Amino acid sequence: MPVEVKMADLIRLNLVDPFEAEHEEPKQIAKRLSKEGLIDHFNFKNSIFTLARRSSGDCQFLDAKDRHCTVYANRPSTCRTHPQVGPKPGFCPYGHIDIKAV
Ligand code: SF4
Repeated sequence: MPVEVKMADLIRLNLVDPFEAEHEEPKQIAKRLSKEGLIDHFNFKNSIFTLARRSSGDCQFLDAKDRHCTVYANRPSTCRTHPQVGPKPGFCPYGHIDIKAV
């Protein structure tokens, strides 16, 4: 499942510096993040960034071995408000999707 985030999430995740967020256009920041492989998409109209995923479809912050969220304390708002509570604290609430089966 693609994870959509806002600038505040990117700052919390330490992907964007607060100074950069204040002084750079979101479009320029999106260009940099895209170049670095950190986002897949930027919606200019709503200033929403879509985090990049691995080829497996997993979130880039998901530990591939034990399936816990490696940025749990700083996870994006969309993950915090996901209606499904994760299996246990520290773990990602999103289920694994086999993109080959979709
Ligand atoms: S909870 Fe963590 S691993 Fe899961 S989608 Fe959010 S940032 Fe990614």
